Amino acid sequence: MPGLADLEMIASSCTKCPLAVGRTTVVFGEGDPHAALMVVGEGPGREEDMQGRPFVGRSGQLLDRLLGEEMGLARSDVYIANVVKCRPPGNRDPEPGEIESCRPYLEQQVDLIDPTIVLTLGNFATKVLLATKEGITKLRGHAYPYRAGMLVPTFHPAAALRGGGEVLAQMRADFVRARQLLEPRPTGAS
Ligand code: URA
Repeated sequence: MPGLADLEMIASSCTKCPLAVGRTTVVFGEGDPHAALMVVGEGPGREEDMQGRPFVGRSGQLLDRLLGEEMGLARSDVYIANVVKCRPPGNRDPEPGEIESCRPYLEQQVDLIDPTIVLTLGNFATKVLLATKEGITKLRGHAYPYRAGMLVPTFHPAAALRGGGEVLAQMRADFVRARQLLEPRPTGAS
């Protein structure tokens, strides 16, 4: 299996799906390659496409805030990636064929980083990684066994930016759930 840097190099010239035509940069992902927490979003927006970095726009600012306030983590402590690595035009939803084309990159990223916890943001990341058709509103609020660790689904930050207080409160609770799963259990605790 190639390393992360090799995989990023391969992805940087990817033409497996039509999103390649409209992109400025491939937004492969960034962060600590040995992170215990991996965050997976949907796909790059306008800012991310221009900068080549995930979650650097308004959603990213909220993500950074929640990581800090609820988990005590900086974005450099985690690894952040998306389901699709190229921006869907006009920020439309990624299409099934685009998700399938990009899936091997995401799966290899998860294999290489081997996180204890995967925090999925929104419907697309959650459905792809849990291989379910169930929506995020039903799935969030719980943690699911995933590979050797757990997956914690939550809303996409864009939903909190649109939807306000209730969505944000639920996201905060999900981030706390992820933090608790990351914390080593005290020895002797039952
Ligand atoms: N939304 C996402 O899902 N990913 C990004 O990188 C930015 C916004």
